[in-house]
Amino acid sequence: MISVDEAKQYIQQYTQTGPTVVVDLYEACGYAIAKDVFSPVDFPSFRQSAMDGYAFRLDDVDGDAVFVVEREIQAGTIDEISSIKKGEAIRIFTGAKVPDDADTIVIQEHVEINGNNIRLTNIELTKGSNIRPVASQTRQGDCILKKGTLITPGAAGLLASVGISDIDVVAKPRCTILNTGRELVKPGNDLQQGQIYESNSYALVAALKKLQLDVCEIMWVDDDEQQTIAAIQTALEKTDVLLITGGVSVGDYDFVESALAKNGVAKIFHKVKQKPGNPLYFGTKENSIIFGLPGNPGSVLTCFYEYVVPCLQLKMGIAKHGLLTLQLPLSHDISKKAGLTHFLKGTITSTGVAVLNHQESYKMNAFADADCLIVVDEQMTNMQQGDLVNVHILAF
Ligand code: AMP
Ligand code: MG
Repeated sequence: MISVDEAKQYIQQYTQTGPTVVVDLYEACGYAIAKDVFSPVDFPSFRQSAMDGYAFRLDDVDGDAVFVVEREIQAGTIDEISSIKKGEAIRIFTGAKVPDDADTIVIQEHVEINGNNIRLTNIELTKGSNIRPVASQTRQGDCILKKGTLITPGAAGLLASVGISDIDVVAKPRCTILNTGRELVKPGNDLQQGQIYESNSYALVAALKKLQLDVCEIMWVDDDEQQTIAAIQTALEKTDVLLITGGVSVGDYDFVESALAKNGVAKIFHKVKQKPGNPLYFGTKENSIIFGLPGNPGSVLTCFYEYVVPCLQLKMGIAKHGLLTLQLPLSHDISKKAGLTHFLKGTITSTGVAVLNHQESYKMNAFADADCLIVVDEQMTNMQQGDLVNVHILAF
């Protein structure tokens, strides 16, 4: 059995970044940038007024601080006012091009208007006040976004601000979920004796959506080897990442490992020194990745966050992958046996992090409240209140 760190290293080693595709910028949020992006223009490309007000030369301010106003410039107009007369101020609006020889803008709230004249009521201005300099956000040729950056709403706005409408990104992986288990019934139906509601696909679809990924298909099979072989074959024809839940343990009706082998999937590891999710399986076939997630709902979601998230992010070309780790003080003592890494559903408070009740992997109530997984290392046995512990933030 391998350690958590070894399992994560194998996943990193065997996961390949997807191909580059071009997407319309409106569709780009959630993709990673495939190549460094350089700005084709300066932004702003001209000196812009930052406010509605009046533009003038600061050196023209005399004792009265009065200016005559006869001309105006609206945002987006092309009328050039290249020179302004001594003692003249130009009415100007936010976003408009500042006349070349004006160096200062006073906001309209800081003037008194008298016919064609204005008087400055607040002359705490310096040259450049309320003027956005050329290229003050971005200079032409600047690298504005690095390869591997996840496109956020902010990044989409930045790209558009320099005129980019289509962008090279890494293709998103196609994901399929395969549920195994004779006992499973889709929510919304009545339960017969011995049946439970299928919940893993709901948690996984939600988690994939948080990563801005869609699910191609959700498949179901009985605990039957032939059905499992056939379903895996169908899934692998159209899938980059196959998430199988259940059937991956050592019971007489657990057929996932043998069905994967019969489909030519190369096993990279099976079983990790961890709780929950000890029988976690990871394999590959050509460019496809296959996870066998131990079926208990708490194990499925823990393994998803700890292993599937970084794998998907690598496939998506996201440079920063894995959950954010913080070190926080424990709100109370904890103890466990040495030998397995424990992932505990936790909640962050203003003073530290607390382990939630109901940690058993068949329960989902703790997960529903959790905002983090507390990682208690393999060899650790006792930790005291106030000890710093690694906490993985469930931001997705
Ligand atoms: P298995 O890994 O197939 O041995 O399943 C372990 C436990 O998880 C059993 O109690 C299953 O009934 C339960 N389980 C498996 N798959 C699901 C699922 N999709 N939704 C809810 N519970 C499941
Ligand atoms: Mg099962």
